[in-house]
Amino acid sequence: MKIYLDYAATTPVKKEVLDEMMPYFTEKFGNPSSVHSFGRENKKAISESRSKIANTIGAKPEEIYFTGGGSEADNWAIKGIAYAQKNKGNHIITSKIEHHAVLHTCEYLEKEGFEVTYLDVDEYGLINIDDLKDAIKENTILITIMYANNEIGTIQPIEEIAEIAKENSIVFHTDAVQAYGNKKIDVSKTPIDLLSISSHKIYGPKGIGALYIRKGVKIHPLVHGGAQERKRRAGTENTHGIVGFGKAAEIAYENLEEHNAKLIKLRDKLINELTSKIPYTKLNGHPTKRLPGNVNISFEFIEGESLLLSLDMVGIAASSGSACTSGSLDPSHVLMAIGLSHEVAHGSLRLTIGDMTTEEEIDYVIEKLPPIVDRLRQMSPLYEKVKGE
Ligand SMILES: *Cc1c(COP(=O)(O)O)cnc(C)c1O
Repeated sequence: MKIYLDYAATTPVKKEVLDEMMPYFTEKFGNPSSVHSFGRENKKAISESRSKIANTIGAKPEEIYFTGGGSEADNWAIKGIAYAQKNKGNHIITSKIEHHAVLHTCEYLEKEGFEVTYLDVDEYGLINIDDLKDAIKENTILITIMYANNEIGTIQPIEEIAEIAKENSIVFHTDAVQAYGNKKIDVSKTPIDLLSISSHKIYGPKGIGALYIRKGVKIHPLVHGGAQERKRRAGTENTHGIVGFGKAAEIAYENLEEHNAKLIKLRDKLINELTSKIPYTKLNGHPTKRLPGNVNISFEFIEGESLLLSLDMVGIAASSGSACTSGSLDPSHVLMAIGLSHEVAHGSLRLTIGDMTTEEEIDYVIEKLPPIVDRLRQMSPLYEKVKGE
């Protein structure tokens, strides 16, 4: 058995997506900026893909800018607004649970003289709307709050946050990389000014994403050079990536309801079974305001890393609550922000479900995980003590 439950990290490219991309590696290889037919064919493919993506979020095609992924879109949105609007002010508001692409960009800007407020979140990972209102100052130029969290799956009240930003004439950006393909998003109704999305989280290829930039929003260009992406992000377009992203986006929104219903059913089964079968467990994130495919559970008295290795040995690929992947032993900033102790955060497991997940796979995890947790706990002196009491 080989079971992939790490869809929040990345997803496989769907067959239909790959089929659509293939010709653009070989016979349809022209440079989209060329005037001849080879170029025009490519230019047309890019513009069709741009329209498909715009349609999924209620945007105009010319408001979609292709980037090299979600991180690049986040960097561009934040630095681009900061530099373009610094004559108006130097204050940015974000939250403590953002993706590192947002947090590290904000930290960089602090070194450049900007001031950043990092909002706290509650035990479920939700920001407090009154805290947001209180944080707004005369010199606030940007609010950047993620749509849905990649670790604990919590979905923020984005409509409400966007309205507050608008009332105060502050630019609003949201990192929607996890929400995109799972939530209905409509920028013609919700006053979101900038929105980041990424292809490889929705069964498209890696290294391609987009930033939605509302018409009229003043932003610095990202890459100087040719006239590509309306002179804001120069460089010959990643045509095959763009074509794949467009197809993946189209499929995601055609099948949204079906996809969500399936994932929610499997998610809730996993949550209910694991938290009822295994003692000393805690669900992280919000019980209902959460991504359809996200399960994040803390198991007291064990190390997430040992859990991951044991799961890997029985063929289950998951993710843990510490940042060991990046070579550090610090527990995740998200789990810290929702108030977990270091110990409990270290014993956290993220299982993320996707389109290819089957009920048999979920049943296999429900069968395999409890004895693994039990065995690891037997090695914990602390657990022996608690059990003995
Ligand atoms: C994956 C992810 C990103 C980064 O996207 P890349 O395309 O991998 O650069 C940013 N934000 C969130 C919430 C993500 O889950």
